[in-house]
Amino acid sequence: DVSVARPSLHLLIAAPRGFCAGVDRAIRIVELAIQRYGAPVYVRHEIVHNRYVVDGLKARGAIFVEDLDEVPDGVPVVFSAHGVPKAVPHKAEERGLEYVDATCPLVSKVHRQAERLVADGRHILFIGHRGHPEVIGTFGQVPEGRMTLVETVADAEAVEPADAANLAFLTQTTLSVDDTAATIAVLKRRFPAILAPRGEDICYATSNRQAAVKAIAEQCDAMLVIGAPNSSNSLRLVEVAERGGIRARLIQRAADIDFGWLEGVSVLGLTAGASAPEILVREVVDHLAARFAITEEEVATASESMVFKLPRALEAA
Ligand code: SF4
Repeated sequence: DVSVARPSLHLLIAAPRGFCAGVDRAIRIVELAIQRYGAPVYVRHEIVHNRYVVDGLKARGAIFVEDLDEVPDGVPVVFSAHGVPKAVPHKAEERGLEYVDATCPLVSKVHRQAERLVADGRHILFIGHRGHPEVIGTFGQVPEGRMTLVETVADAEAVEPADAANLAFLTQTTLSVDDTAATIAVLKRRFPAILAPRGEDICYATSNRQAAVKAIAEQCDAMLVIGAPNSSNSLRLVEVAERGGIRARLIQRAADIDFGWLEGVSVLGLTAGASAPEILVREVVDHLAARFAITEEEVATASESMVFKLPRALEAA
């Protein structure tokens, strides 16, 4: 008899995890656009940062491009959940393209604040990650030179805005709650008159997912975060776990699990970024179950009921 007892592994599964209301809405918009206009429907940028989702929509007739110039005349185009600079819908209008904007309403809220602040004559210090599409989109809401990017506490210490008495700050929606608080503290110390946003710009989904990881990290030996390498909120979950004193890894799918890395782990934390569907969580659990005798426990630190309205043009579809 060569059978060997499988090692046991206890899974602590964070909740909330995975899809947020903005991602849910964005995917639904592409599906409805395909229903309404027929395939192909073009999508500018990955609708959400998840390959599984993108491939699923491709199979249904979506074509993903990075630039509006790649969209042929006469076909509809959807703008991704991350938001776009104003120039993009302007250009679409000039070309007579039909477009549907899947920008998350919580990102649009930051866009409107940016416009208002600049109209009031403020210079904006924007806390975010250089190159992320949301940051590019938000910068594109205001004329050039009216917003300065602050990525880190060190940037906050060094920034020398021209009109220091007339500042405001805003943030990307998917940042680290703790890092952002530290950066804001520096800005407030250096520029006591700086105007803060009305509410928190970091979205409910980002902060809930980080809090859920924080709550279980102490009980885990390691943590797997399901998400894409270009997903800001997923990367932040890895950081939160690591700061909780454990090893953490970002994986896209079950196939990425490195069993060597799991050696000696008896309690494994599991979560998923806001753009990762639950089916990928189940896939990971099944993959682990083939190797380990697993027990599952979900630890919920919040419940979410947020739902965003669809754009009017698609509601009837
Ligand atoms: Fe909207 Fe937050 Fe989801 Fe981004 S992570 S789509 S801001 S709810």
